[in-house]
Amino acid sequence: MLAERYAQTLQRLQNDAAHAERAAPSLLAVSKTQPAEAVAELAAAGQRAFGENYVQEAQQKIIGLRTLGLEWHLIGHLQSNKAALAAELFDWVQSVDRPKLVQALATARAPSQPPLNVLIQVNVDGEPGKQGCSPADVPVLAAAIGRHATLKLRGLMAIPTPHEALEARRPAFRAMKALFDQLRQDAPHVDTLSMGMSDDAALAIAEGATMVRIGTALFGARPRKPD
Ligand SMILES: *Cc1c(COP(=O)(O)O)cnc(C)c1O
Repeated sequence: MLAERYAQTLQRLQNDAAHAERAAPSLLAVSKTQPAEAVAELAAAGQRAFGENYVQEAQQKIIGLRTLGLEWHLIGHLQSNKAALAAELFDWVQSVDRPKLVQALATARAPSQPPLNVLIQVNVDGEPGKQGCSPADVPVLAAAIGRHATLKLRGLMAIPTPHEALEARRPAFRAMKALFDQLRQDAPHVDTLSMGMSDDAALAIAEGATMVRIGTALFGARPRKPD
């Protein structure tokens, strides 16, 4: 069942990319709220990279599945007091959006570990109260990340406003691609633009996503959180 959904999803991403004349993006399987068994099943089907939103929930799975050698991405909001644990557990943190977090992650990441891959999360629509830095802050954060040998800047991430009409999401994706191209002029090693989820991956790919984050289309609907 999962293996079938996985194959369909990979095929769909390939088709979307071909249709848009883009390279196929990498797939991040978003496993938040899913049990470790489901992650193991998808790993057996060939998936390597998994995304989690909550550090504590992820900790169980990362430790429990350590022997599988998977790649773990933190994609949820990261509080500074959880930064040390996140820096130890994850391979990527996609939600870096403030200098304090850069400092906390850089200090906590052991020099004996490979550098922690980081993405700068951008609040591309300027939604009030939403996580992510403003587009204008990207160069400052990129420079801060560049000063730490324990961190490696890989690119940008965004969760644009989920407008009902898909087409209304396009400007945000396009703005992210422009920001990404701009960043790459100063930092040519940057290679990742993480945007697009189950319902808008095709649009994100058409606008230049190199990584899409897919949960529902792979695992099915998530159980609703109790209120
Ligand atoms: C949950 C989540 C996703 C996956 O969303 P789906 O609609 O289930 O594909 C992607 N990115 C982030 C940041 C998420 O929190």
